[in-house]
Amino acid sequence: MIQYDEFGPEKVLTVYDAKVGMTGFVVIDNTSFGPGKGGIRMTPTVNLEEVSRLARAMTLKCALANLPFGGAKSGIVADSKKISPEKKEDLVRSFAEAIKIVCPELYIAAPDMYMAEKEMELIVKTNGSHKACTGKPASMGGLPHELGSTGFGIYHSTKVAALYAGLDLKEATIAIEGFGNVGSFAAKFLSEEGATLVAISDSNGVIYNSDGIDFDELEKVKKETGSVTNYKPASTQCCNNILDVDADILITAALPNLIGLSDIDRLKFKLIVEGSNIPTTDFVENLCFMKDIMVVPDFVANSGGLISSYVEYIGGDEKQMFEMIEKIVSENTKSVLDKSKEDLCSPRECALTMARGKLRKK
Ligand code: NAD
Repeated sequence: MIQYDEFGPEKVLTVYDAKVGMTGFVVIDNTSFGPGKGGIRMTPTVNLEEVSRLARAMTLKCALANLPFGGAKSGIVADSKKISPEKKEDLVRSFAEAIKIVCPELYIAAPDMYMAEKEMELIVKTNGSHKACTGKPASMGGLPHELGSTGFGIYHSTKVAALYAGLDLKEATIAIEGFGNVGSFAAKFLSEEGATLVAISDSNGVIYNSDGIDFDELEKVKKETGSVTNYKPASTQCCNNILDVDADILITAALPNLIGLSDIDRLKFKLIVEGSNIPTTDFVENLCFMKDIMVVPDFVANSGGLISSYVEYIGGDEKQMFEMIEKIVSENTKSVLDKSKEDLCSPRECALTMARGKLRKK
């Protein structure tokens, strides 16, 4: 069920095209700072409630990052892995047609799960406006998500948070859920920093090697075979679930609702950095805080993609983008963790108080 409150959502759209079998959702949560910004995801399970929670995460993320955007999100119901590229194109084109009524005045799209620069190009061509989305190919003046902006921000957030969690990143062991855009770039930057990647998952399973997983080799295996589970030497027998891995840090970078209430007691991580959106609930995050597991909330840690979108929107370049991400994500992570320490409340509660305060002042 969608939750409405003083901040939104302002508009909730369900779009449907019987001809191509497209069902999609757009939730424009809050536009007090500017047009709603948020990615499009294509998954078989996406629904209005999920899109609405994600749109709220965008509202908070934009407010905390002080960007002139509001929060929004959208989804197309389809299993990208089971449909042909032509069918995927038809769905995206049909969706882009359907959302012309709000895009780009009230909604500016971007890539999210199973969406990339190719789909953004199609959206711009269908919509007829360059402002319809960000994450476009470089040839269209875009700063594609393929530059790894979100993973770069996750790396910086982890670097700051590790200090607060009493971890030396160079000595730390890391598990990463998901090896797509966010997970693979987080893995790259963290392994370059000297951290040891001990477990990585994708939709086919979890691989584990206590001596460390070589990033370059893993990337090659994923590219060539389609799954991290073909990487050797690593065991796929260790854990069926990334949550059972014994590592200092978990980076979530795939699914919503990864960590449920019943998972709390199995967690051995000292730090969780939320690369994915809504990997758990506020309640679970508060319990983690009580159990001394530090959780950096999604809208604090994963705003790299959003900041990249903003730099693209104002016509900036790659260098500006990386500098701005490092600054904003590091400072926000620090402010939230400082407040958490001072007020003895979970990072999520502190970040929410900060972001809501900014929204109320507007
Ligand atoms: P992606 O499509 O590039 O990658 C998704 C990854 O998830 C793939 O590696 C896939 O194999 C993996 N996956 C699917 N099912 C899984 C499972 N059951 N267990 C483990 N892994 C599984 O998507 P992405 O862009 O990397 O986004 C990942 C998450 O990060 C999403 O929650 C998204 O909302 C969030 N996010 C993305 C960005 C961005 O810039 N791309 C920005 C902010 C937040």
